[in-house]
Formats: sequence, structure tokens, C-alpha cells
Amino acid sequence: MKLIFERGAEGRGLSLLPENDVPAYEIQSPKRAAAPRLPQVSETELSRHYTELEKQCFGVNDGFYPLGSCTMKYNPKVDEDAAALKGFTGIHPLQPEDTVQGCREVTDTLERYLCEITGMDAITLQPAAGAHGEFTGLLTIKAYHHAKNDPGRTKIIVPDSAHGTNPASAAMAGFQVVSIDSDENGCVDLDALRAAVGEDTAGLMLTNPNTVGLFDPNIAEITGIVHQAGGLCYYDGANLNAIAGVARPGDMGFDVVHLNLHKSFAAPHGGGGPGAGPVGCKEFLKEYLPKHMKAFYGNFLVAVKSLTYLLMLGREGVPEIGKNAVLNANYMKKKLSAAYDMAYDHTCMHEFVMTLSKLKKETGVSALDVAKGMIDHGIHPPTMYFPLIVDEALMIEPTETEPREVLDHACEVLLELAKKAETDPEYLHGAPHDRPIGRPDEVAAARKPVLRYSFGEK
Ligand SMILES: *Cc1c(COP(=O)(O)O)cnc(C)c1O
Repeated sequence: MKLIFERGAEGRGLSLLPENDVPAYEIQSPKRAAAPRLPQVSETELSRHYTELEKQCFGVNDGFYPLGSCTMKYNPKVDEDAAALKGFTGIHPLQPEDTVQGCREVTDTLERYLCEITGMDAITLQPAAGAHGEFTGLLTIKAYHHAKNDPGRTKIIVPDSAHGTNPASAAMAGFQVVSIDSDENGCVDLDALRAAVGEDTAGLMLTNPNTVGLFDPNIAEITGIVHQAGGLCYYDGANLNAIAGVARPGDMGFDVVHLNLHKSFAAPHGGGGPGAGPVGCKEFLKEYLPKHMKAFYGNFLVAVKSLTYLLMLGREGVPEIGKNAVLNANYMKKKLSAAYDMAYDHTCMHEFVMTLSKLKKETGVSALDVAKGMIDHGIHPPTMYFPLIVDEALMIEPTETEPREVLDHACEVLLELAKKAETDPEYLHGAPHDRPIGRPDEVAAARKPVLRYSFGEK
């Protein structure tokens, strides 16, 4: 498609600025040498440009989007309506507090609800994303150990199945990361954990259900082992939709937790849009939570969306999140077991991981090929090659908002692709067949991104 700079013509366009009605003032020092080369297009061309861009994208509103560990679910439009209310959009972070009492009621109420859902005593809405929340939570743990005159606790234990942001956040927060192996069920190996804890343990970071979609049955014992050694337990609650309203990290023995409001609590995400990664903690850690930092109240409008969502669901509705997320995942897992190997064949939580190792050996068709094949059927590919401990992994998270017909169709497509792998592997090596972009060079896209338009110049 044409870029916006390649559309239009010199002098075309529409100035939306009103006539100047004050004396003109010439700015001197920071003035540009030449006028910026902005696109010169008519409104029609501009509108078509954005529509064309939109058609190149795939979102939850286009079709099924089972991207594991991402919770690409449908978010009710009423949340957007609430977030667009003038009283919420027209405020300023520096406004006197007595003029934003309604907004404070929103944040306070949401904090209370999230405390109730997670089993925590205090929450900060400051962090802007999941990884940001992890970083905040880890610094909270660090501050606690320092305040207790115990700065020798420098290590954070992270299972090898962890989401990549966990070890990254721990390293960024100045901790040494100790990786421990998972057992044959994909859960924490208790002996490995016992061997890893000690006087230098600052804490453990855990996702439960973990990244292979399993709820660790030893969770109380795990948090007990860490506490016994003097460490704290951090719960990565990015995918809390798996257990929302059914089980609480606070009851499992966790001291700190972050949530992704842009996954589990109905704020849309993707494309780097605004998110929120609130961090909750138990009473004894409350004083170490950050005060105002990110625009004072965090990404406030995300909080409005999440509160609207929770108010709509009510106390009876919240457990339906977790129950439907788990039901949908197990429904698909069972159906797909007819043709695909599961990495772990247990009852899963909100997602499950298939391993296409055998399929690849027998037919040459890889997890990537199958994922690309799904695109031709109007389905967004699942998460591929993650978690790293599973060979040829496809990780499927249907989410709680998909009806049965959609799950049935996706299963039919996947079962058909498994057959196709046997009969016509070449076809799948070439998939997708009729999309604007087929198989981009992902390494080049990440390492040498082209982010500027050079007008044909070097
Ligand atoms: C998505 C996710 C994160 C990171 O969240 P971001 O908002 O993308 O930073 C962390 N942990 C888990 C388990 C996740 O699924």
C-alpha cells in the first residue's frame, strides 16, 4: 500500500486553523531552517489511508484471536463510553484534589474491588503495564528487605517456565535471577526450590496458573518454603481471568501481586495502547508501595474501564470470568487432542500448549506453518514457540468471551490443517496464501526497523 507521504499533491489539503486575530509574532531561535514536509492530502485521501491501514490489521472485532498468554478477549463497548465521559477526560493531574473527588472515588473503589479479588490489603494503580508492575512490586520487596536491615537478600527465584518479563524485571530491579527447573508436569519442582532458597533469597516470582496453563497443586507448600527461608512471594497475575472470583493469590500465600487490567479486566490492548499493571500487597508491605509517580493517578481512564466492567459483572458475574475461560480452553484442548499432542495432558486453566514436535518430524510441517495456515481461515495465530521449555509449541488461549460455534470452527480448522500436513505439506509451507503480508523477515523487522520516511533520499 502507498504511504501517506506518497499520496496527495503539493498544495492539497485543508487548513483547520482559524484566521489569526492577534498580532503576529515571529519566533526566533528554535525556528526550523525549512518547513516540515508534511503530507498534503485531502480529507478523502486521509480517510481512505486510515481505512486501508485498518484493513491490513486483524483485531478481536475481526475474528477469533487465541493468542496464548495475551487474553485477547472482547471488551464491552460500554467501558469505552464510560471512559469517554467529559468528567473523566477533562481533568488534569495537577488539579486540586477537592475538585477531582469523583475520580478519586473511581480509583478508590477499583482498588477495593481488586483487593477483594486478589486477597490483598492495598493496591497502587500507578504502573502502566504488566512488566512495569513487576518492576514496581520487586522494588517494593527490595525496600522491605532494606528496611528490615537485610540487604543481603539479592536473589529472585524464577521457574524456567516463567513469562520472559519476570527474569527481565528482576534483573532490572537489581536482583540476581536464579532459574529453577519445572517438574515433568510443568509445575515448580519442590526439591529444586528447597535447594535454591537461602539467606540470600529476596523472593520468588511465580505465575499461577503458569505459562503452560496449569494451576500448581503445591502452591501453598511453595509459598511456605519461600517464607520459611525469609523471602517474599510475588504473584504474576497478568492472566487473572483464569481464576478471577474463584481463587485468590492472597490465600495462596502471596505477598505481592500485579494484574494486567489490559488483559483480564477489559481494557483493550495491543499496539502499545494504554494499559495498567496495578500492584497489590499485604498490609505489612503497604508503606513500601510507590506514592504518586506515573501521571499521579496512573493511566486513569484504564481504571474507569475496569471499574465499569466489574460493576457490570457484579459479585455473581466475576467468577463467571474464570469459569468460562477455563471451560473454553478445556473444550478446545479435548477436541484438538484427536490430532495434536498436548505438552501437558492435564486439565488446563485458561490456556493450553500443544507440541508439534512429532508432526514436524513426520511431515516437515512446523508450528509456524500451522499458525500461518490458520490466517487463511480468518483466525489469528496462537502464540508460537513459547514457553521455551516446549518444543514446536503452539499456545492457545480462547478467552472467556468466545461462543461455542467459534471454538468449534477453530477446532475444525486446526484438525483440517493437521490432515493437510500429511497430504500437502508444501501448501502449508507457503501459507498464508491470500493476505497482504505473508511471512515477513521478523529478525530484520526487529533489528533493522525502518521508522522514517526518507523521501527517496539516503
Ligand atoms: C502479558 C504478561 C506479562 C507482561 O505484561 P505487559 O503489560 O505486556 O508488560 C507478564 N506476565 C504474564 C504472565 C503475561 O501474560
